[in-house]
Amino acid sequence: MKLFRFNGGRIGIATNGSAYDITDALGIDLSAWPPVQMVTLIADFQNRTRGITDNPKTKKIDMSAIRLDVPIEWPNKLMALPVNYYEHKAEMNSPNRADLNGFFLKANSSLSGPNDPIVLPSLPGREIHHECELGIVLGKKGRNVTRENAMDYIFGYACLIDVVVRGKEERVMRKSWDSFCPFGPWIVTADEVPDPSDVKMKLWVNDELRQDDSTKNLIVDIPGMIELVSKVSTIYPGDIIATGTPSGVGPIKAGDKVRIAIDHVGEMNLTVK
Ligand code: MN
Repeated sequence: MKLFRFNGGRIGIATNGSAYDITDALGIDLSAWPPVQMVTLIADFQNRTRGITDNPKTKKIDMSAIRLDVPIEWPNKLMALPVNYYEHKAEMNSPNRADLNGFFLKANSSLSGPNDPIVLPSLPGREIHHECELGIVLGKKGRNVTRENAMDYIFGYACLIDVVVRGKEERVMRKSWDSFCPFGPWIVTADEVPDPSDVKMKLWVNDELRQDDSTKNLIVDIPGMIELVSKVSTIYPGDIIATGTPSGVGPIKAGDKVRIAIDHVGEMNLTVK
């Protein structure tokens, strides 16, 4: 199943070849703030969506006639793994490694959707890079989750680009500019990804293939990263983990077209302003 937000925060699902607007059937108030509608839905997803395609308030929709928004706008936290592929460590000549350095946070407000541009700040002489990553969406609250149980905490997956200004300022700031975390185009539920330990991902800039790798080459694998983050912080439904980028990172500039595609998950085509 695909779960998505569209047309200003409405919530939809796509399943068995059909798409549905389930906003009214769920009784969602689109004007509520903070906009945590998707997070609260993920927290009780099975109960709240049982039989929902038969609900009289559910409407069939045409995916080609809607505008997709970022699927999660207001998570409790957006965590990310630094230097989590050996080839990326080599290309950056970095002393860091995710299994030694742990995780960092990006501002939740850096999240943006599949139809939103990446808006570059004016920083003359500075390089701003794309990082192609698999995004994990957590589905359950937990603390001290063991790697044996870790996969039970995954709700689903999405494409994620960790955009970053290279340089020496705090990493959190360099990665937290508005629009520096394109995420989407939807969340695919975990059952649709047959082998999370070998998910292939690619990223192009202006049709030039820049990144092409698989989660099989992660240094800290997916169960390991859930164990790692939940040792420090309580994890919550709707939390997002950016799993780390493979090699091939490089600069983007205004006018570029960035495309990310992840097997079994989807793809996004983004403009850069
Ligand atoms: Mn990254």
